[in-house]
Amino acid sequence: MRQKYVVGNWKLNGSLAGNEALLRAILGEVTPQPARNLAVCVPAPYLAQVRAILAGTPVGWGGQDVSRFEKGAYTGDVSAAMLAEFGCRFSIVGHSERRTLFGDTDAVVAEKFAVARKAGLTPIFCVGETLEERERGVTEAVLARQLDAVLAVQGAAALDGALVAYEPVWAIGTGRTATAGQAQEAHAFLRGRVAGKDAGVAAALPILYGGSVKAANAAELFAMPDVDGGLIGGASLVAEDFLAIWRAAVAAR
Ligand code: PEP
Repeated sequence: MRQKYVVGNWKLNGSLAGNEALLRAILGEVTPQPARNLAVCVPAPYLAQVRAILAGTPVGWGGQDVSRFEKGAYTGDVSAAMLAEFGCRFSIVGHSERRTLFGDTDAVVAEKFAVARKAGLTPIFCVGETLEERERGVTEAVLARQLDAVLAVQGAAALDGALVAYEPVWAIGTGRTATAGQAQEAHAFLRGRVAGKDAGVAAALPILYGGSVKAANAAELFAMPDVDGGLIGGASLVAEDFLAIWRAAVAAR
């Protein structure tokens, strides 16, 4: 039985005072045992603050992206090893905003995935189709292409211990959520594709759903057999909303 994960993606949001209030509110409610798979992915400048508040608690933390390079003359980049040094358990790689706004190709995402693994991070590897791709009926082809770019790097073993997040681009930050059925269909497709390489890795692989998850729709999404929790953007910035989603994940275990 796979565990459920709830991971917040703060994106380009936060302030020292706001982060502290948000994290204190979260810590006020979570209990150690089920909270192991609760985490927040924060902007790099806040990692020291977040580590100071969350160290020794059941809530984990991570970065939102990693450089594909390990070190050197890459101004502005943050390496996977730097994230690991700040105690990050996770890093998102291949988020659609990095793909569409910053030009991360499938090959670049695969490189980022590999350096994250090498540094001991758990990659949260995001895949998902645009609305135009869904309407053209090529959702599965897009998911296969994005997934295969990473599978090609190290085979299915690369996904052992990683997380995948299915994030339909048309549902991210739009208020438009995939139905539970649409999410289940995509998750089952992804799991099946991994199973084609390694059934054991596929069975254990947590596949999170992301895209306008809210307290109101979390329970229905998390009830799907292949939906192993959520990657939460906007709702992770409001303690009560994030906690309500967390409660839905705990109840769905
Ligand atoms: C995300 O940023 O990964 C995300 C899913 O955002 P939102 O929940 O705001 O749609």
